[in-house]
Amino acid sequence: MKPDTRTAMYELIHEVRSGFPFDATEASLCSDDCNGCSKKLLEFIAMELDDWEVRLNKGINPTFGDLDKLARTCKKVHCVLQRNELLESPSPQPSPKGRGS
Ligand code: SF4
Repeated sequence: MKPDTRTAMYELIHEVRSGFPFDATEASLCSDDCNGCSKKLLEFIAMELDDWEVRLNKGINPTFGDLDKLARTCKKVHCVLQRNELLESPSPQPSPKGRGS
């Protein structure tokens, strides 16, 4: 059985939580050559992930649009984190397996 949008959203949340440097210290996030505020973006994404987790746990099912929107936001933040040399891994994508169910 193909994973649905719910499963895909849980997977995206897990992927971002394990890939983004949420535990980084302020000293490591803030540099003299800062290209976008990694600190604020990580706080924003952490809130988005928490919000979605709460909604999922309440039984709310995300739409494909919700999934794409969160994935696009995470991708943009990922670019900033990469530019600030805080990440090297590829950016998160919604699972294509979650589509079409
Ligand atoms: S813009 Fe944000 S991440 Fe960059 S130095 Fe300032 S507080 Fe730190």
